[in-house]
Amino acid sequence: MSRGFAPISPERAYRRLYSRYGAQGWWPTTPRGARAPRYYPGRNARVSERDRAEICMGAVLAQNTNWSNAEKALGALHRAGVWAMQDIERAAQRNLASLIRSSGYFRQKARKLKTFARHAASRGKTLGRWLSGPLPELRREILGLWGVGPETADSILLYAGGRPAFVVDAYTRRLAARLGWLRRPDYARTQDYLVRRLPKSVRLYKEFHALVVRLAKEHCRAKPVCGGCPILDGCRYGVAHA
Ligand code: SF4
Repeated sequence: MSRGFAPISPERAYRRLYSRYGAQGWWPTTPRGARAPRYYPGRNARVSERDRAEICMGAVLAQNTNWSNAEKALGALHRAGVWAMQDIERAAQRNLASLIRSSGYFRQKARKLKTFARHAASRGKTLGRWLSGPLPELRREILGLWGVGPETADSILLYAGGRPAFVVDAYTRRLAARLGWLRRPDYARTQDYLVRRLPKSVRLYKEFHALVVRLAKEHCRAKPVCGGCPILDGCRYGVAHA
């Protein structure tokens, strides 16, 4: 093992990232009258039914693309008056696809949005009530929908439902490998590793995911910029390559 490397626990890594970057205030949603989604750092923003719908749409639109493309697609939906799941249900799939073109895979994503909205309507409840159901069963139910993988399902549960579902993305898996937490960090292993070591807290889960994205943008890129990284001394890769 390289000199100077002292493994860092997930909780300690979280505290370091939080103290460097502060609260990230995810998931961004669009207030009434605004033209683009906003973040809410430092306050526990109330999530309305309209926000929930926007988060569910955003989680699908953000698949396999960056947030700015998903945000453009959301903006186009909003300008066309599509805010609620019922609006998605009513819209023709072809029209939806052309509105969300900027998010890529737009025909598939239009079908995914329709599938999700139809299913949500079939539950006969608001999104808020539906997403407050028993967690393991609800997660299985959402994962059973066409086009919804674990990252999308957990993003919906955590940010739209306020449920303790830990979100793992490609950045989290890459970080887990570089820090030396896991050798083969697939989704389930990474999620299991982290939930066993972090306090079970919706607020922390929300911030952890957002902070990892922030770290991945600023330092832990595909080609990492380890100088100045807030968790460098706890990183197997960073210390070995310093
Ligand atoms: S030290 Fe480098 S590899 Fe490790 S977490 Fe930081 S940026 Fe990523």
